[in-house]
Amino acid sequence: MNITEIRVKLIDDQRDKLRGFASLTVDRCLVIRDLKIIEGSRGLFVAMPSRKLHDRCQSCAGKNHIRAKYCNDCGQRLREGRGDTDDRGRVRLYADIAHPIHQEGRDEVQARVVAAYQQEYDSSKLDGYVPARFDDLDYHVFAQDSSESS
Ligand SMILES: [Zn+2]
Repeated sequence: MNITEIRVKLIDDQRDKLRGFASLTVDRCLVIRDLKIIEGSRGLFVAMPSRKLHDRCQSCAGKNHIRAKYCNDCGQRLREGRGDTDDRGRVRLYADIAHPIHQEGRDEVQARVVAAYQQEYDSSKLDGYVPARFDDLDYHVFAQDSSESS
């Protein structure tokens, strides 16, 4: 895999485990954005972009999060035990939007993104640091949302 660029947006909120966002470019051709750099119990790891899974209410067909107990639209009680389970039997709440298909790819993305994060973090401590630009992304909106909810 030829990763040609990685951009990191640092998130400076120590109340949260999210340390930053990254976008990576493959072969100067395809951009994958919204990777998250997260501080885990065993150090930093990278989460691939994902979306929350939903399903539809049996009476009104309204869309609800898999964990919802009642329908957002009609208030009807929803069936228990909805959604698919993963190989450990837990209900799947998120689905990756883009992800490496083998461990080697996963390791490479992880190592490169964490290295890029560390580099960005180090430069952020220097005078005259200018954060990477993410003109096309609404990360500031997310940062606001996450600080309000915590
Ligand atoms: Zn409903």
